[in-house]
Amino acid sequence: MNIKGLYRDELIKLITPVYRADQILQWVYEKQAESFDAMTNLPAPLRAKLAEEFALNALKEVKTRHATDTTEKFLFKLHDGSLIETVLIPATPGLTSTDDRQTVCVSTQAGCAFGCKFCASGLDGFKRNLSAAEIVDQVWQVQKLMKQKVNNIVVMGMGEPFANYENVLRALRILNAPWAFGIGARKMTVSTVGIVTGIRRLAEEPMQIRLAVSLHGATDEVRGKIMPINRKFPLKELMAACEYYAQVKGKMLTFEYILIENVNDMIEQAHKLAGMARRVHAKVNLIPYNPVEGLPWQRPDRDRCKVFQHVLRQAGISATLRIEKGTDIAAACGQLRLQHER
Ligand code: SAH
Repeated sequence: MNIKGLYRDELIKLITPVYRADQILQWVYEKQAESFDAMTNLPAPLRAKLAEEFALNALKEVKTRHATDTTEKFLFKLHDGSLIETVLIPATPGLTSTDDRQTVCVSTQAGCAFGCKFCASGLDGFKRNLSAAEIVDQVWQVQKLMKQKVNNIVVMGMGEPFANYENVLRALRILNAPWAFGIGARKMTVSTVGIVTGIRRLAEEPMQIRLAVSLHGATDEVRGKIMPINRKFPLKELMAACEYYAQVKGKMLTFEYILIENVNDMIEQAHKLAGMARRVHAKVNLIPYNPVEGLPWQRPDRDRCKVFQHVLRQAGISATLRIEKGTDIAAACGQLRLQHER
């Protein structure tokens, strides 16, 4: 049992008296102790018992890569040898003005089963769901390694969060808890390939977690070509779920739209996308495609991306064209793991 996957309530049932459990949590999240032995205000027999019954670290750092733009990418090994990626995207003053966000992008599965045609994460198939502790530990390790407080989480790493719903929500609740890192729910964004049941379920959570939907196509024809999930949940159903989320939460969601040359970058897609975004009050995050070695897809040139963005803005939709970060360290979507394994 890993301490980082437990709620305080659960730990209290296992460790008495309560103040001892709280001391342990303080060591784990406030002082970020790396071993039970380091918890010097606990009696030695308790430390020994903890070391015997609990695990503290779920991940081992394998590799760290620094990009010229200060993005850091981490490759972690799990106890079964699986590799996952985590990215730290620090605030970039000057680039995004007064932004002081330290964003960590976490993975939720080893591999991915959804097989989006353009994505590197699914190339080697699906291995397994990550435990809550393995998700929490990604944030923990990055904060420890970088000596920087993390205050923003995007669940946009390897894997599909809604295919591992329970563990992802457990991890986010722990990261949100005042006895752990206290990261605001509004500072957490879950990105989904478009699992309708997950979107509806998230709408009913009391936590105010943000939602991002990977759209990447504004018609079933275009989306279906690159995202197999569109067969199970076509756009009509996906939009209905987004509408439900927007209504219940009274909050804006984000449509992610990667721009792939001659696949989904046509102007008529932009017009359709604008209509969809208006309907559910979504803002649009345009991301020029990050080419993946071995895959045929390319990104459109900058002008074409700008035209696409312009169409959305003319239609009154808030649309950002993402500034690439970390491309030189293969920070996009499963590429570092792929390089390492090969
Ligand atoms: N499974 C979830 C979260 C992980 S992917 C989802 O699909 O949303 C996070 C985002 O990166 C998704 O929008 C995904 O489509 C996108 N992505 C995958 N490969 C990419 C690439 N090579 N370049 C740019 N974005 C990519």
